[in-house]
Amino acid sequence: MNCVESMFHQLPQAADRLTEAATWKQGARHWPSGEQQTLMCCRVIDETHDVKTFEFRTEDGLPVRFEPGQFMTVWADVHGQRLERCYTISSPPTRPYLVSITVKRVPGGAMSNWLHENMQPGKQLRAYGPSGTFTATASLRQRFCICPRAPASLR
Ligand SMILES: Cc1cc2nc3c(=O)[nH]c(=O)nc-3n(C[C@H](O)[C@H](O)[C@H](O)COP(=O)(O)OP(=O)(O)OC[C@H]3O[C@@H](n4cnc5c(N)ncnc54)[C@H](O)[C@@H]3O)c2cc1C
Repeated sequence: MNCVESMFHQLPQAADRLTEAATWKQGARHWPSGEQQTLMCCRVIDETHDVKTFEFRTEDGLPVRFEPGQFMTVWADVHGQRLERCYTISSPPTRPYLVSITVKRVPGGAMSNWLHENMQPGKQLRAYGPSGTFTATASLRQRFCICPRAPASLR
């Protein structure tokens, strides 16, 4: 079994593990936003003609803790130039063995087109740890109350 096959082999099991919030909060490690890691692409999903989801595992295979709504900064050498771009993590924190980003192709865009054309299972991408405080859980902590007003026609 090669490295890509072994990643796929582990995937169904990984996707089912640590679904309880209490378990993944304890089990997954904190990946600081200033720390780089290598991510291994294990699956690419065509969402639409110009949107792809790229699923990654960390190189050491350990689970990662993040908040829903956080983003990662990824970097790559694109045509000889080092580029960094931010992408929101599109996988749920309850599946901490996988980290995915969903990227829309931007016409003329360097990184989005490079990812669409080059990133495939077995390839690597460098990334900084999850970042950003504008998350669903942070909003909950502030206890916002949103009370929509019914339109006059319905009153
Ligand atoms: C917090 C955050 C989260 C994000 N999350 C996502 C996400 O989940 N999914 C997602 O798809 N994107 C996301 N983005 C956007 C993403 O970071 C990139 O900006 C996007 O993918 C475009 O990058 P690119 O390198 O392909 O395009 P770029 O190369 O940066 O180009 C962008 C546009 O500018 C034009 N351009 C570039 N250089 C020039 C020039 N010299 N003169 C004139 N025009 C030029 C290009 O033609 C293109 O239209 C997020 C951004 C932030 C800040």
